[in-house]
Amino acid sequence: MPPSDDLPELGFASLAVRAGQTRTPEGEHAEPIFATSSFVFASAAEAAARFSGATPGNIYSRFTNPTVRMFQDRLAALEGGESCIATSSGMAAILATCMALLKSGDHIVSANSIFGSTISLFTHYLSKFGIATSYVSLSDPAAWEAAIRPETRLFYLETPCNPLMELADIQALADLAHAHGILLVVDNCFCTPVLQRPFTLGADLVIHSATKYLDGQGRCVGGAVVGDRQRVGTDIYGFLRTAGPTMSPFNAWVFLKGLETLQLRMRAHSATALQLAQWLETQPAVERVYYPGLPSHPQHELAKRQQSGFGGIVSFELRGGRQAAWRLIDATQLISITANLGDAKTTITHPATTTHGRLTPQERERAGIGEGLIRISAGLEEAADLQADLERGLRQLA
Ligand SMILES: *Cc1c(COP(=O)(O)O)cnc(C)c1O
Repeated sequence: MPPSDDLPELGFASLAVRAGQTRTPEGEHAEPIFATSSFVFASAAEAAARFSGATPGNIYSRFTNPTVRMFQDRLAALEGGESCIATSSGMAAILATCMALLKSGDHIVSANSIFGSTISLFTHYLSKFGIATSYVSLSDPAAWEAAIRPETRLFYLETPCNPLMELADIQALADLAHAHGILLVVDNCFCTPVLQRPFTLGADLVIHSATKYLDGQGRCVGGAVVGDRQRVGTDIYGFLRTAGPTMSPFNAWVFLKGLETLQLRMRAHSATALQLAQWLETQPAVERVYYPGLPSHPQHELAKRQQSGFGGIVSFELRGGRQAAWRLIDATQLISITANLGDAKTTITHPATTTHGRLTPQERERAGIGEGLIRISAGLEEAADLQADLERGLRQLA
């Protein structure tokens, strides 16, 4: 039963805490972890009915587990989608979506600024099965239109994108996609449903790397896809059931509890990121700050319209290239040097030599990834302490 039928009148914060939970006869208050691979049946006839799909219920944890289902139902409620399938990672959610909905000969139009492994999946793996991908600029709807072919099935994007925080106009691209019978897939990792609801803007499917903000404390790897009953509840579910890129019940429980605090955390991440972005913009060693919450961001108006907050990721370009960037990174004592994001702990990354290090210098330049670029994922520490940590590095550059 979709959670919206269970809890019709609740607001976002209430759904985040309540949606999807079903209690066992033990009367537990918190959601239980169903650490079991299979489920027993009262009779052979009941087993047969479950396997044939004649009656609903648990069978085997590759594709039915109550803890995983609670996470799925809660995330579906928060995104406002009919159906959700949880997967072992964000990449598995993207793979499951493509395997379930595409066939040989189909074509994807994708933003060129998406997560590196997603580009790799499209370019090196889907291509082996006859699925082609064209890459276009995230913010240029004319380029998306020009890339459409008769066999185009998916538009694929992340907004804001990593690490330059460029935005796509979701509504405009949804209208364009639908005029050509194409599905719009939005990876909502950076905003989460707290800050952006892609379905209200016309998106057909929403992808998550639960590893990031849904967990929010850097503990587990997981993913999810949300959408309509047919595509997600039947088609993508069918792929999951068959191929098994399954989320473990323990990880589902961590993410389920993560959703309960998601709104509080996203607001705190956003407030700290805005404060750091405003301060960085006043620093002489900083050439440019990329943050949608700054009036200097070229798509600030779109961000205000499309998002209800600006998120926790701030990038900035230092004068002095790689040497300056590495010196600043190495001078930090509090902030963690790691490529993960969406954690309670603030992280700092040099994209040109880590997340985007496998691109050629020309590809990096085209993508706008400079040698002086630094990406910060603002955590939940005191903003003043983070500023002081960055100031140490900036002083060394002066
Ligand atoms: C991390 C990430 C992914 C991949 O998720 P995993 O859980 O690491 O497999 C996909 N998209 C975005 C935007 C990400 O940041």
